[in-house]
Amino acid sequence: MNKKIQTNAVDDTSFHWRRIVLKVGSALIAPDNNGCSSRYLLGIAEFIIKCRMRGVQVVLVSSGSVAAGAHAFNTEKERSIAVKKAMAAKGQMDMMASWDRLFDFPIAQLLLTQGDLQDHDRYHSIRETAFELLNNDILPVVNENDAVTSDEMKVGDNDNLSAMIAAAVDADCLIICSDVNGLYTDNPNTNPHAELLKQVEHIDSKIFDMAGGPDSSVGTGGMRTKLEAAEKATSNGIMTYIVNGLHTSSFNKLFEGKNPGTEFLPSKKPLDNRKHWITHTSKAKGEVIVRNDVADKITDDNVDFDHNDIVNVVGNFATGDTILVRTEKGTKLAKAASQHSSCVLNLVLKERIDESAIENSDDENTIIEENSLAILEKK
Ligand code: GLU
Repeated sequence: MNKKIQTNAVDDTSFHWRRIVLKVGSALIAPDNNGCSSRYLLGIAEFIIKCRMRGVQVVLVSSGSVAAGAHAFNTEKERSIAVKKAMAAKGQMDMMASWDRLFDFPIAQLLLTQGDLQDHDRYHSIRETAFELLNNDILPVVNENDAVTSDEMKVGDNDNLSAMIAAAVDADCLIICSDVNGLYTDNPNTNPHAELLKQVEHIDSKIFDMAGGPDSSVGTGGMRTKLEAAEKATSNGIMTYIVNGLHTSSFNKLFEGKNPGTEFLPSKKPLDNRKHWITHTSKAKGEVIVRNDVADKITDDNVDFDHNDIVNVVGNFATGDTILVRTEKGTKLAKAASQHSSCVLNLVLKERIDESAIENSDDENTIIEENSLAILEKK
């Protein structure tokens, strides 16, 4: 296949986004688990081209490295992590080559891991690179660097990755292509009465209950990870769609400003970038467990507690690492950068305190940095 897609100029005005992130899953890249196929990519590529012609910037988050590389390996038995990483190394090239064949403008590969997103300097470096590519009309194609990641430092699914990327590149719209039409009230494969939800205003536990478990035989994610992604993106003020990427009609509708699947409305009170990063991108390296009554001292932007309220410290973290603050009952109160390492907090806790450890820091009673505190919905 060596086919560049031609598209006539478009004059429709209802597709009004400034910058979109489009997530394409393994089931669309390598639908038969036997290398890349252009079956679904042609329609998606045409949509990307039309967006760019309209002046809408596009960042593509493309899965499929493992699925595209699998056919080159002789593995009858269960695949080990090492084999999957090798498949990703092989398939990533094939997947990029497939996309490249479909466009007559340059594309670029951005491979990253949770470790990169977690580190503030590297996070900003990713942003810088993405903006530079976009400013030069180059299509960034993002994937997790599966060949080098360990489970600990992995995002793990490209639904969540696409939402983190959407936040990182200041997108105003995230489109997640699925192999179903959107979010149903129940599993449409087993319940004939399941209905497609056209619009979701707020993602709560009832919405998550509709998703069930992981359901894709090719990729990693299912409806649950798509909802996690929608939650991440909408809380940053990003409109999110889950659409059926198997049908080009989905993209035609999107382009006409219509909703072909389920749309998730952006939050009316979006988090600022720093708080969003802490809440949705940075993984907590440890936990500080506080007395239950600290839950009553939460305001919109502060959790009032000091070291006397701490009842336990879980995990190893350094000063500045992201921690989760939760009560003894398990209610998650906040995520924040810790002012002290877990070592110091453990000393405090065991009353074997070296007073100077706390006194030498900026604020002897403060456990978390106020300007990097994100209050969580109490759950
Ligand atoms: N990064 C994985 C891959 O390229 C895909 C993860 C997912 O399926 O969401 O194979």
